[in-house]
Amino acid sequence: MRPIFSLKHLIGSLALFAAYVATARLGLALDPVGGFATLVWPPTGLALAALVRGPRLWPAVTAGAFVANVWSGAPLLVALGIAVGNTLEAVVGAQFLLRRPGYSGPIHGVRHAFAALGAALACPMLSASLGVLSLWAGGIVPTERIGSAGLAWWLGDALGALVVAPVILDWGADERSEGLRGRGLEAALLILSVLASAALSFSGEPGAPLRRPHMIFPSLIWAAIRFGPSVTSFAVLAISAIAIAITAHGTGPYVTAATLHENLTALQGFMGTVALTGIFLSAANTERTRAQRLLADEHAQLRHAVGARDEFLSIASHELRTPLAALSLQVAGLERALTRRNVQTEEGQRELHRAGRAVAQVDRLTRLVDTLFDVSQITAGRLQLQREAFDLCEAVRAVASALQEQATRAGCSVEVRAPAPVVGDWDRFRIEQVVTNLLTNAFKYGSGKPVEVSVEARDAKAWLRVRDQGAGISPDATERIFERFERVATGHHQKSLGVGLYIARQVIDAHAGVVRVEDTSAAGSTFLVELPLVSRVTEGLVERGH
Ligand code: ADP
Repeated sequence: MRPIFSLKHLIGSLALFAAYVATARLGLALDPVGGFATLVWPPTGLALAALVRGPRLWPAVTAGAFVANVWSGAPLLVALGIAVGNTLEAVVGAQFLLRRPGYSGPIHGVRHAFAALGAALACPMLSASLGVLSLWAGGIVPTERIGSAGLAWWLGDALGALVVAPVILDWGADERSEGLRGRGLEAALLILSVLASAALSFSGEPGAPLRRPHMIFPSLIWAAIRFGPSVTSFAVLAISAIAIAITAHGTGPYVTAATLHENLTALQGFMGTVALTGIFLSAANTERTRAQRLLADEHAQLRHAVGARDEFLSIASHELRTPLAALSLQVAGLERALTRRNVQTEEGQRELHRAGRAVAQVDRLTRLVDTLFDVSQITAGRLQLQREAFDLCEAVRAVASALQEQATRAGCSVEVRAPAPVVGDWDRFRIEQVVTNLLTNAFKYGSGKPVEVSVEARDAKAWLRVRDQGAGISPDATERIFERFERVATGHHQKSLGVGLYIARQVIDAHAGVVRVEDTSAAGSTFLVELPLVSRVTEGLVERGH
């Protein structure tokens, strides 16, 4: 339990009481109906905001309203009735707002803006009905003026809530990007523009074309879009204060009727529109700013997660390589030893067969781990080419013959068409890796059908084509398959990592070449690799005569 009386509570109550009485006196000075039902009543906004922040401050509202009305000449019982109405209005309004999900004071979105609007329009009905009833019972307002007094009271209170409460509640709650920090010049220009446009549009000849109230909207929109709700609510308050002061002084576009009361009624109607525009526009803008920030945060999180994954892949694959190399040596040694013993019994043959399978599995595991390691290195930008001059035709033949057993197992014949040597300046190990990946894919996805490979030199480039007659690739997948871990369902249910083409593309990119799916119309797929024969760096050196 918090103590009922604390110093903070006492100071808060006194401040609220003093502010309530001072602003109430200001409103009661502006030609109220029957001396009390005023069109300008800032205390409603003050009390609403104060009770949202500290619901236990309500006695200060009762006391403030009571004292202000007695001070203006209300009989004690009438003042008490008015004070009860004013307190109820603030308590009900604050409790309604505090019960909205996610509401803590500042207006952070359109839903909160609607709640604030509801509270600002509905709660003053409590105060207006109790207040006018008290005035009528006290004989201060005659029966025939109950309607106009009630309307003035309601309008004054609603405007007080719409114009004053947001200034207090939104204070300091703007999104980071909406704040004033680092934007001093723009803020100064905005303040100047708000003050100047308000002063100009509410004063002077009503007929002057540019001296119309709607001229304040550009500054208001500027505040709402470039700054946040708190700056906007300040702008609305400033415009309202200037407009009321000028109109009360007897000039400007709203001085059209005989009495100040009529002029203020028209002005307050307009100010309601201004306040609503400011509240909703800045609320929608805050919502947008928040959504953008959330999106950026999520993006950063995702990037972090992907970075962590790559880091893990890199470490894991690197660490796995050492024990795997040792294991590979051991099982190969075991297989050799069994072969040397040359045991012809059935048992001996079975052991030799098992050792052979172990060697094959360890080889496969090594290839997978090597591939993962490659991917992690390439992703981290650590792909470095060891260039040397060699004949691509010869390299392709070497790879095809190394993969002969795999081709046979897949039921594929391999035809290499490479009529003339194609010598270039490339990384042999990496280019062979690309050819291996393309051929392996051709066997995997085009099993049982012939595979054709061709190599030729044209336009200072080497052209390598790998063509199979398998399932082919749908046109919408021809780019996607070159992404990391990207596999396309082919119905083959192949066990794969989906990185072969990713590595191929990275390697060919590093050589300033191009790899792509050439043709998807015919049965099967054709992969085309274009490689510049001479690297740009070497070319530069040659041109400069080295
Ligand atoms: P992996 O073959 O390990 O899945 P790749 O990066 O080599 O990974 O290939 C990515 C995907 O591209 C494959 O899963 C397959 O769907 C498709 N693909 C690659 N080569 C061929 C091909 N020759 N024919 C049909 N589809 C292919």
